[in-house]
Amino acid sequence: MKVCNSCNEKFISSEWKCPSCNYLPKVIDNHLAFAPELAQASDGFEAGLFSQLAPLEAKNFWFRSRNHLIIWALKRYFLKATKFLEIGCGTGFVLQGIERAFPKLTLFGSEIFTAGLSFASQRLLRTELFQMDARKIPFENEFDVIGLFDVLEHIEEDREVLAEIYRATAKGGGIILTVPQHPWLWSQADDYAHHVRRYRAQELKIKVEGAGFKVVKITSFVSLLLPLMLVSRLSQKRPNQNYSIMSELKISGWLNTTLENVLNLERIMIKFGISFPAGGSLLLVARKL
Ligand SMILES: [Zn+2]
Repeated sequence: MKVCNSCNEKFISSEWKCPSCNYLPKVIDNHLAFAPELAQASDGFEAGLFSQLAPLEAKNFWFRSRNHLIIWALKRYFLKATKFLEIGCGTGFVLQGIERAFPKLTLFGSEIFTAGLSFASQRLLRTELFQMDARKIPFENEFDVIGLFDVLEHIEEDREVLAEIYRATAKGGGIILTVPQHPWLWSQADDYAHHVRRYRAQELKIKVEGAGFKVVKITSFVSLLLPLMLVSRLSQKRPNQNYSIMSELKISGWLNTTLENVLNLERIMIKFGISFPAGGSLLLVARKL
């Protein structure tokens, strides 16, 4: 069901014109824009980064492994889902993986920046994309699964966002989240990425359940690489004038392959039911009962 962003009227219609107040969302660059005032710039992420990020993601071990994990979680916990929304879809790398793995799933992607959407629309074949502020989601009981992959840590009002997501999720559906873990792993990379926080597992669980969800799986990942991360993060505690997130992503071929193999092994263990207590990131799956 749709929710009018102007008067909060709930309505079922194929069109967006509100039957109560006639409000019609704007269209920017061919995408519906529910928060056009935020479409160009926001504190959360540097929109210009998308153009640099897009070609690197496809090769990078971390993005590739995270995609495999997300696809596994979707199959394992929400096999019957028909409607999936990714909030904060960035360049569309995750949705591209989901398009390929779930040919029958109807897909939606949202992003606060229209710059991200123009990249995503080049990459995606059948995903409907729109511009939206996650703090004001114009849907109720609409999506079987909503995914946020390394998005929540960018948003000050995370509880508010989770409450909005709960409303937008259909009963029997749920959410899949990934977030960076452990406040003590905070480094220049988090500053650079405009993170508001790194989560503790318990904190994330409490916030998600506070919104009404029932958590069914929570595990760390990038656990086996934690010692390596620690070394890298400690070396970054001294601010580096020339720091660039791109230099973190541009790693040599053999190292990339080795790290990906380690994360492949880790994922096999997660599939067998192991939940890692510590790791660079957290995966959480929860249901709306
Ligand atoms: Zn209205």
